Amino acid sequence: MRKILLAGNWKMHGSVAMVESLLNELLLASQQESVVDMAVFPPFPFLGQAQRLLQGSNISWGAQNLNPASQGAYTGEVSVGMLLDFACRYVLVGHSERRALFGESDNDVALRFEAAHQAGLEPVLCVGETLEERENDQTERVVERQLDAVLQHSGIEALERAVIAYEPVWAIGTGETATPEQAQAVHAFIRNKISSQNDTIGGHIRILYGGSVNGSNAADLFAREDIDGGLVGGASLKAGDFLAIRDAAA
Ligand code: PEP
Repeated sequence: MRKILLAGNWKMHGSVAMVESLLNELLLASQQESVVDMAVFPPFPFLGQAQRLLQGSNISWGAQNLNPASQGAYTGEVSVGMLLDFACRYVLVGHSERRALFGESDNDVALRFEAAHQAGLEPVLCVGETLEERENDQTERVVERQLDAVLQHSGIEALERAVIAYEPVWAIGTGETATPEQAQAVHAFIRNKISSQNDTIGGHIRILYGGSVNGSNAADLFAREDIDGGLVGGASLKAGDFLAIRDAAA
């Protein structure tokens, strides 16, 4: 039985004051054990604050990216060791904004995944097609290529402790959500591909859907057999919106 995971990707939003109030509100609402796991992904400068506030709670935290090098002359970058210093459990790799805006290739993503995996962090590998790719019936081909880059680099066993997020690029931040049927079809494709290499891992890996998830569409999406929760951007920035998704999922 896979437990639903609700992950909030804050992107480049927030301030010390906002983090304090948002996390305190989430904490207040998360004192009981829940059927939904929650995690937040604040920008790097707020990881220490997240650690201080969330340590010992039911809410996990992670980072939005990492550099695969362990240290060195990489101005502006953050290593996996630094993320471990702030007790991160997760790290996003290959978010479509990283791929599109910062030129991260499939190989770059695979290196990041491997660095996180080797260090014991749980990578959340983001995959998904653009609108043009979907319209050209390339969805499975693109998702498979993105997945294969990681599998070829790290091997199927590396998915033992990882999460996949299927995020159609055309649904991210647009208010347009994949239908539950569209999302389920890609999730099943991903799970079948993993299961064909390792049935056990295929059965228990969590595959999240991302792309304009909100309190109104979450229940329908998360009810699908292969959708194990959501990676949420915009609706993770206000406690009420994020908790509405959690309640819908529960
Ligand atoms: C995301 O940032 O991964 C995302 C899915 O954003 P949004 O929920 O705003 O579409």
